[in-house]
Amino acid sequence: MDSTIYNYAIIGAGCAGIHLALAMMEDPFFADKQILVLEKDAKEANDRTWCFWEIGAGKWDNLILHSWAKGKFHCTNQDKVMDIAPYRYKMLRSIDFYKNAKDKINAAPNFHWVNDTITTVSANGKNTILGEKGNYIANHIFDSRIHPDFFKKEDTYTRLLQHFKGWIIETEEDFFDPDEFVFMDFRLKWKDSTSFNYVLPISKRKALIEFTLFTPELIEDKDYDKILEQYLEDIVKLKKYSISEVEQGVIPMSDFPFHRQHEDHLTKIGTAGAWVRPSSGYHFKNAEKYSQMIVDNLKSHRLPSKGVAQNRFRKYDTLLLDILNKNNELGEELFSSMIKNNHATKVFKFLDEETSIFEEMKIFSTFRSAPFLKALFNQIRK
Ligand SMILES: Cc1cc2nc3c(=O)[nH]c(=O)nc-3n(C[C@H](O)[C@H](O)[C@H](O)COP(=O)(O)OP(=O)(O)OC[C@H]3O[C@@H](n4cnc5c(N)ncnc54)[C@H](O)[C@@H]3O)c2cc1C
Repeated sequence: MDSTIYNYAIIGAGCAGIHLALAMMEDPFFADKQILVLEKDAKEANDRTWCFWEIGAGKWDNLILHSWAKGKFHCTNQDKVMDIAPYRYKMLRSIDFYKNAKDKINAAPNFHWVNDTITTVSANGKNTILGEKGNYIANHIFDSRIHPDFFKKEDTYTRLLQHFKGWIIETEEDFFDPDEFVFMDFRLKWKDSTSFNYVLPISKRKALIEFTLFTPELIEDKDYDKILEQYLEDIVKLKKYSISEVEQGVIPMSDFPFHRQHEDHLTKIGTAGAWVRPSSGYHFKNAEKYSQMIVDNLKSHRLPSKGVAQNRFRKYDTLLLDILNKNNELGEELFSSMIKNNHATKVFKFLDEETSIFEEMKIFSTFRSAPFLKALFNQIRK
């Protein structure tokens, strides 16, 4: 048993746990607090690529692999150039994010990184955390483990999956334009599903190409490969390339009430705390924003989760999930009406949950899908 009573314990040093730990480290309020970070993995693999947009310089610019000021959107019968200025679309490799955090945590005398798999947490006031290697006590626990009820599926919440496979490909000759990325390309889909490819050129000879689906079930591994091959050959018109890295993942898209799993002495964070936007899978910038909110709440002696991931945007997400669950083929129509009929900066502002209700209604009025408008009307009446 570790006899220290930590002020805070953070279970999971992934996207959310690291954002939170570093936000605490940057604030003098936490300089005299003891903070324990518990992580089961070594975090030495590049297990994901994070993309996000922001205006101007950002907190992670020293870790950014590449960024773009211009994007493209393609659907079956139309293309759109997305002028995203003053935003930039930025790409970050998780391995760089993990290494930067580990170095900082290991160098800070009041932060303690412990590799352990946590099995049981009792946040009953005594707040004990049981791990495979040791037991720990903290006044407040931040937990990025997803509640087991989510996996039991014994309720009526919608559960879609954002699942994808991507290849980093390299060419022997210049082929890509590193100043322009493809945000979404619906010209090649998996059956009648909401599915699209995207292209993130890192240099003239290197790009990440990813095939993504928003569907209830996964597809077979060979089918992602088939689509990626076909996309490169028929649409990108690239025949000769080598695959240097593979990225694969699944992100839950659900209206499961993750935010209700908080307890008096335990706050759920990250995917487990509803920080991932269910309608898009984006999380990285939310993790930065919500970590800062937690820090501010702790400093003001408010409930740590106050105001975090609970707003009307969750209602919009529920609506979109419901439509995609019932009519999965409508994804192209929904995303393309939003992107074709609204300036890219407005779309980013909306996805960042920074629009006014008036701006949101203007965006919704550009959606031509009858099921969407009907579902929106029903939601507003509730
Ligand atoms: C491949 C991939 C690509 C993505 N790309 C983007 C993107 O481009 N942009 C974006 O905004 N979002 C993206 N996401 C979505 C989201 O940003 C990530 O899923 C993000 O990592 C979620 O953060 P998290 O902290 O909730 O979970 P994680 O980052 O998975 O962190 C959870 C941590 O908890 C640890 N852990 C779990 N159980 C235990 C235990 N029992 N004991 C101790 N430690 C434990 C895990 O090892 C892990 O380190 C992507 C997701 C994936 C999977």
